[in-house]
Amino acid sequence: MGKLSRKRPAEPFPTHPERGTVRLTAMRSRTLFPIAVADDTSFDAHAPRGPHPERPERLVAARAGLNRALGASDRTRIAARPALHAELLAAHSAEHIARLERDLHGHGYLDADTYVSPGTRAAAWGAAGASVDFAQYLMLERERFGFALLRPPGHHATREAAMGFCYLNNIAIAAYAALAAGAAKVAIVDWDVHHGNGTQAIFEDDPRVLFISLHEWPLYPGTGKASELGRGAGAGFNVNIPLPEHAGPAAYASAFRKLVLPMLDRFGADLTLVSAGFDAHERDPLASMALTSESYGAMAAALLAQAKRSGHSRVGFFLEGGYDLRALDESVGHVTAAMLGTEIPLTRDEPESHFTAAIDETALALAPYWQDLRPYES
Ligand SMILES: [Zn+2]
Repeated sequence: MGKLSRKRPAEPFPTHPERGTVRLTAMRSRTLFPIAVADDTSFDAHAPRGPHPERPERLVAARAGLNRALGASDRTRIAARPALHAELLAAHSAEHIARLERDLHGHGYLDADTYVSPGTRAAAWGAAGASVDFAQYLMLERERFGFALLRPPGHHATREAAMGFCYLNNIAIAAYAALAAGAAKVAIVDWDVHHGNGTQAIFEDDPRVLFISLHEWPLYPGTGKASELGRGAGAGFNVNIPLPEHAGPAAYASAFRKLVLPMLDRFGADLTLVSAGFDAHERDPLASMALTSESYGAMAAALLAQAKRSGHSRVGFFLEGGYDLRALDESVGHVTAAMLGTEIPLTRDEPESHFTAAIDETALALAPYWQDLRPYES
């Protein structure tokens, strides 16, 4: 197994069974339109032959959390369909697509982490096609939310290469589809615990797409320093917020108030897409952060509220990583509850000083492009 797949030697965090239950009784639907859910059974046929963290059971857990939170609420289901060559070409080179067409057969490995199974090709192409349809659906009205429960994930895939369990960059393909459907600007917030190196590489010279990644540092894939700010016309629109290990709800809430939310306000996107990995959860076996299931709901609610304030309410969550099944179930449930209108506030707890120092250092690196950001008070 490669660097991304390697497990932590021991579970350093206590688990909190009382935390993270979706309180359905307190939930009140305030959305007047159905939540979009992109999902398909064909994603389950992307399956490793032996033990591997990126496995079909992840999606079973995510679906359970989403279904429990949605209850009887209406949903618009978006099924998989193979992405068209032209849709893939927006985010990937013809050589990369041709290589995948050649290599995604039978059982094997593209690199130490990234396996191939007989169902991989159809799942990857289907997830990319669903991403296009999902983005187009979100663009139809000024108020649309949804969750794309996709496998395989996408945010490590670059224009040229598959890596880190990812083959095609679903969220990048979706962002291009949204731009083609009339969005002038798209924001991508990536809270997966790993840096979204593929999404960064695809958009780093494109000022139409603001990419903001919060991730554990240092960790796979080794990119995502605060000094990586984009280039050319895209300089300043690529934002990395690396956080030391054990960062939890207070550190993320502080990064949201000081950086993420004020930057989104200033950027003024027509659509917010979220690379929603759940591997910064305290239970996750591949990383060392300390988010709770409920804190994912709080971050989702903050992004939904920001979108509403900015004049659009189009927000799409894309499943990326997350390798503990209970954490996936609970966290996807809380994000779904946030879409349905449950208010889950960001914590007011002060982060420990070394997290504050990391966030302030990032703010300093961003200062040439993002002057006088005013932190959120609430
Ligand atoms: Zn990840």
